[in-house]
Amino acid sequence: MKEIVVVSGKGGAGKSTITAGLSYFLKENDILVDADVDAPNLKILLEPELIREEDFYSGKQFKIEQDFCIMCGRCYQECSFEAIEIVNLNYVIDDVACEGCGLCQFLCPVNAISVSDKLTGKKYVSKTKYGFNMVHALLNPSEENSGKLVAEIKKIAKNLAKEQNSSTIIVDGPPGIGCSTISAISGSDILLLVAESTISGLHDMERLIELTKNFKVKRKGFINKFGLNHSIDEKLVNLFESKEIEIVGYLTYSQNIPQYLKKRVNLPEHIDGYKKLFEGLYNRLMEAVG
Ligand code: SF4
Ligand code: SF4
Repeated sequence: MKEIVVVSGKGGAGKSTITAGLSYFLKENDILVDADVDAPNLKILLEPELIREEDFYSGKQFKIEQDFCIMCGRCYQECSFEAIEIVNLNYVIDDVACEGCGLCQFLCPVNAISVSDKLTGKKYVSKTKYGFNMVHALLNPSEENSGKLVAEIKKIAKNLAKEQNSSTIIVDGPPGIGCSTISAISGSDILLLVAESTISGLHDMERLIELTKNFKVKRKGFINKFGLNHSIDEKLVNLFESKEIEIVGYLTYSQNIPQYLKKRVNLPEHIDGYKKLFEGLYNRLMEAVG
């Protein structure tokens, strides 16, 4: 079983469009993972039907039990994050501001503060319109630990792949170079680094190449919106060459692409030219991964 992870140093570089295009060539028993747990969007193109869902717990949730609180105000005075406020003459904890340090619970003289695991998101397995299963997730707004959630859905994907005898897992990585991206990359066989032909695209690709250089994983390059800025095109080609990263594909800039995506068209599905492009890209990645 081989795992391909598609990453870009930033959001909006076209990573999900490229992943959706590649997924068109997966077999029914293969697996797709949408690891952009803050803003998953592969479902827009792949129209998945939910098979199962699980809760994701991360961190602790502290709560003042009003029946026991004697209103001494100690927690309110000592919380360094100003996460305790007075509402309707009661002390209450603001879940968004609370950092979960536990100091208030430690200080409370009457044990009026309870703690429980915090529900911060959901994990899903769905069947896509192409027949293969997709593992995805959604982290609640403002919650942390996206790296842990990515690790959990990758584990679900790997177990499912074993059950289904899959040969390939494709992962749509999170944008940026944070811990969720590191989590998506860990344990993979090959990375497709998707760069956008813009100044910020070049800058973010430099950072992503730096981040990924110490992972023992093969790297291939891809340039999206090629032709949008000839000077940046050239710099991206030189950047990949200087780091000995082979460029395995280009998607030429076209004003039609946003229109197709707006209509929820997966590029290789209805357009012959794109079908050939993505088929070639898929085959080159398969050859590279061995
Ligand atoms: S757990 Fe820490 S951050 Fe949260 S309310 Fe208590 S003292 Fe403040
Ligand atoms: S420390 Fe305990 S008793 Fe005092 S205000 Fe806070 S919750 Fe209430």
